[in-house]
Amino acid sequence: MENIPIDSSGLDFIGHNFATSNALIPILLDDKNCVVAVADPFNVELMDTISQRLKIPIVFKLTSFQRVKKFWESISPKQGTNGKENMAPASTNTGELESVLVDKFFDNLLKMSISERASDIHLEHCRGGMCIRIRVDGKLHVVNNVDKILAQAIIAKTKFKADAKIDEVHLPQDRRIRVKIFDKNYDLRISILPTIYGENVAIRIFDQEDNDFDLNSIGLGQKQSALMESIINGKSGLILLCGPTGCGKTTTLYTILKKISSQDRKVITIEDPIEYRLDGISQVPVNDEIGLSFASILRSVLRQSPNVIMVGEIRDHETAELVIQATLTGHLVLSTIHCNDAVGAITRLLDLGISEFLIKSCLRGSISQRLMRKPCQFCMTSRELSDAEKVSFPQLADSIKMVPEVHGCKNCSRKGYRGRIAIFDFLVKKSLTNNLSAINQEIVFDDFLHADSFSENILRLLEDRAIMFEDVIPLLVNDVQKVEHVKF
Ligand SMILES: [Zn+2]
Repeated sequence: MENIPIDSSGLDFIGHNFATSNALIPILLDDKNCVVAVADPFNVELMDTISQRLKIPIVFKLTSFQRVKKFWESISPKQGTNGKENMAPASTNTGELESVLVDKFFDNLLKMSISERASDIHLEHCRGGMCIRIRVDGKLHVVNNVDKILAQAIIAKTKFKADAKIDEVHLPQDRRIRVKIFDKNYDLRISILPTIYGENVAIRIFDQEDNDFDLNSIGLGQKQSALMESIINGKSGLILLCGPTGCGKTTTLYTILKKISSQDRKVITIEDPIEYRLDGISQVPVNDEIGLSFASILRSVLRQSPNVIMVGEIRDHETAELVIQATLTGHLVLSTIHCNDAVGAITRLLDLGISEFLIKSCLRGSISQRLMRKPCQFCMTSRELSDAEKVSFPQLADSIKMVPEVHGCKNCSRKGYRGRIAIFDFLVKKSLTNNLSAINQEIVFDDFLHADSFSENILRLLEDRAIMFEDVIPLLVNDVQKVEHVKF
């Protein structure tokens, strides 16, 4: 954009007021070609309106608010207004104008992210400006780079919208707001973090209306459903979910809670932070700043005589001990714990100082999960496994001949995948699984049955070409290493 000389005669075609209030510079090259420089690349509606209005091919170029502002300051307000009607009122004050434009930019960024099904938006300062990325199906994509001046304006606007302290630039801040976009309610969790180049903002988007938390829709096969039922159908005991951040364990936790909550059971959750609001369940947020930790809230919750308690995470000895006590006094407790697989939950509880005897008495089971991207059904083809892959992953060689290959098309925004599916790994107390015939099972710690359904899931889903092959590779590598080095 910086190389194109600005010819303000393009204003005659588009209207001065319309151009200023939408932060654009129309540049007429000749009567067949027009370039419109826009400062807000997310405003698709605006670009459609201009295309319809000018009726000649238009090339859209990205420019900065700063350059738009300079351009408007450099020409007289009257220039270029002969003829075309104005489509929006102009602002005469450039400060006000910038505020309105940044507001629009923020709204359009949210709309674009939601249409792309993004889970979070990242505004990251770097040398010379800011990079804007969104995460779709677990992968980050750059959507825009903006200059330093616009970056500061966007951060200030975000802080204003989030009701954060605008003048606080040295300390992290966390806020939560509710917005209405496309007539639907979304909760935004906004986290502001100072870095050496400036403040970074991460916005997590929670759709408050689109989550039915249905156990049948989270991707369980028939055997996994039976394993899940055996773990969750009980009056007391501990149920743990594990897996790395972003593996969807919170969604599974809510799904289980919804399934087991009923009119004759009192359910209280302790969460940090509360991600979704559930009907019929009392949810208590952790607030470390005023001393409300998982452990301190749990003590009070027990006095409320609940049947089921959900503790967001067990991350210290005190919470682990209180959770065990709660299960021993007849409560059903659900929680997450930081470890990679279902068996690791026991090792982690041992690390947190819980005895093997207590673990065997209290733990009903643990569930680990991963999210795998689904290949786009419109542009997917198949390819044969290469010889090198057959050697690296001998567990596939017998049953899987073809794996999905994606190319990218308009249905998947050229990414090659769309949506995700969960795969699960179960550890279940042996006594709860009398009628089950899970495959790949082994007995661990004498009392627990490990149904390694990651491998089973992977084979089933790869055969159906329902998951991306690249996503499976880390788990297959782990699997091979486990067989070679650990051998339970
Ligand atoms: Zn596609």
